[in-house]
Amino acid sequence: MTATVIDGKAFAARVRGQVAEQVARLKAEHGLVPGLAVVLVGEDPASQVYVGAKGKQTVEVGMISVEHKLPVDTSEADLLALIAALNADAKIHGILVQLPLPSHLNSDLVINSIDPAKDVDGFHISNVGLLGTGQKAMVPCTPLGCLMMLRAHLGKLSGLNAVVVGRSNIVGKPMAQLLLGESCTVTIAHSRTRDLAAVCRGADILVAAVGRPEMITGDYVKPGATVIDVGINRIQRDGKTRLVGDVDYASAAAVAGAITPVPGGVGPMTIACLLANTLTACCRENGLPEPV
Ligand code: NDP
Repeated sequence: MTATVIDGKAFAARVRGQVAEQVARLKAEHGLVPGLAVVLVGEDPASQVYVGAKGKQTVEVGMISVEHKLPVDTSEADLLALIAALNADAKIHGILVQLPLPSHLNSDLVINSIDPAKDVDGFHISNVGLLGTGQKAMVPCTPLGCLMMLRAHLGKLSGLNAVVVGRSNIVGKPMAQLLLGESCTVTIAHSRTRDLAAVCRGADILVAAVGRPEMITGDYVKPGATVIDVGINRIQRDGKTRLVGDVDYASAAAVAGAITPVPGGVGPMTIACLLANTLTACCRENGLPEPV
């Protein structure tokens, strides 16, 4: 069997195209321009790349992009003051604080200081609670992108067995909540799970969010399953730096029915969903119908 490749890059381009159309309509019909503020503390190289890509794509869909790059020794009080100012700024509809933050800053405190209506990452405890109780929330971008690809590929997900490997607050847990919301039978696996391969082989939908390069091999995959690889790992191979997922692509693709590649799978969908969330926040803020 050769798995169908779920092309996240092409999917994300379509989502960005739809967002751009709706942004243009908001501007023409209501004189509104959605604005996204991204706050980066310190100089983590990977974070700088992500923030750069976010800013570029925000502008490309016609939104206002504001970047605040703060020194690594920024005090918590100064960061909280900036967030309070962004919360009060009517031109800003989405606020994203790039994680991880330097260790002297309390990430929970910082994230929970964002106005939940502007929390386009969906990490504020209010949004976590709303998602967990099936209410209208801001949904974290990476799991939202995974869900969009799963829906597009599989149609209805109801009744399917889903295994999410990883229980982080930013990927694993919200992914599991979303799949539960689709009426999947959901298992969350983690580092203490016994016989992980056997657990994974029960999955019609297998989501890998582990942070371990190529750990999920074909032995973990049920024939015909849909495999979503969230992992982004930089490894050295053949003297070069390569980007690989948490799934061993070659062996998994030989067993799976469909699979996302790395790069070009979940990654591009994350930023596309960030833009979609910013548009949603702008519509909600102004009492307009939400984009579909
Ligand atoms: P975390 O490190 O926060 O969580 C990893 C999870 O994997 C933990 O729950 C951990 O279990 C579990 N785990 C670790 N080792 C094993 C193991 N041997 N067997 C089973 N479970 C294990 O990572 P994130 O959720 O933040 O990210 C996961 C991956 O997704 C990373 O590769 C990251 O780079 C990538 N990522 C990609 C994004 C994108 O846009 N595509 C966005 C965000 C993340 P335990 O809780 O027991 O420790």
